[in-house]
Amino acid sequence: MKKPFTLLIVDDEKQNRTLLTELLQDDYQVILAKNGLQALEKAQAHVPDLILLDVLMPEMDGLAVIRALKSADTTRHIPVIFVSALDTPEDEERGLDLGAVDYIAKPFHPPIVRARVRNHLQAVHQRRLLERLALIDSLTEVPNRRRFAEVYEREWRRCMRNQRPLSLLVLDVDQFKRYNDTYGHAAGDAALKRVAAAIQSALKRPADFLARYGGEEFVVLLPDTSAASGLQMADTIRLAVEAERVPYAESDCSPWLTISLGGATVVPVDVEVDTRLFEAADQALYEAKSRGRNQAVWSAQGAADH
Ligand code: GH3
Ligand code: MG
Ligand code: MG
Repeated sequence: MKKPFTLLIVDDEKQNRTLLTELLQDDYQVILAKNGLQALEKAQAHVPDLILLDVLMPEMDGLAVIRALKSADTTRHIPVIFVSALDTPEDEERGLDLGAVDYIAKPFHPPIVRARVRNHLQAVHQRRLLERLALIDSLTEVPNRRRFAEVYEREWRRCMRNQRPLSLLVLDVDQFKRYNDTYGHAAGDAALKRVAAAIQSALKRPADFLARYGGEEFVVLLPDTSAASGLQMADTIRLAVEAERVPYAESDCSPWLTISLGGATVVPVDVEVDTRLFEAADQALYEAKSRGRNQAVWSAQGAADH
């Protein structure tokens, strides 16, 4: 089994490196560095989950290392535990002031090192879980609207830099109120999950991005995609949802649960996201609904308009 966490152990004395490695290598992936410079290189290259850092080292000491770690974007968030022979309260205070999460005095008691490492990694795990949860919709498990806003800005700028078309799709489940009224809210929830999974499975490129926008409405970003290809994708997605065959005898458009889609395309000219792209896609969705649902409509005011 692959070990879920990577530790970087920094110590200039071989004996200490060996001792700590033996102590921790059964549970964690261990990387070693024998001086400050090497520590920074390896921290940059591997982005470990936790660093055990010696304080007294020739040339670059542990205090200089943690300062450098905390000033770089890639390494700033990595928790650092000092392991040091300097054991006065002032030494400990200085280490913690520089942003270390813990301070272990040498000579250390092995079970305590192991326990503290475990506790700090537990905190790392919890933090990641929370970060992930804050960006993922808990019902459908696809990214939420907040995450969409971030990705939308990023892809908008990327398409602007490359002068490539960006297509946006707005999707809405057809007659979903009636579905809930007929089968109950729990069945409605289960159906939404299946719809999200079907949309996701229809996306092909790594940059294609699905999010739940709210209620029974989803959005799909298709970077580097023309209006013609976007419309094709829209139909592929529509068919994938219908092919899920979520029974819906009371629907006016199909024996199965279906979605309607509106799309629009733009080659961004400004760094700021232009709200007209979303409005155009939304307007196209409205058109798809009024033409009878279970279909895709592409906005006529395409790239040329922007
Ligand atoms: P249209 O085809 O025009 O989109 O009709 P509609 O009934 O789908 O649209 P409307 O906006 O009137 O109703 C949306 C329904 O979706 C009402 C709401 O209760 C339901 N809904 C929104 N979010 C959820 C959810 O998370 N779970 C369940 N079960 N239902 C939801
Ligand atoms: Mg709706
Ligand atoms: Mg709807």
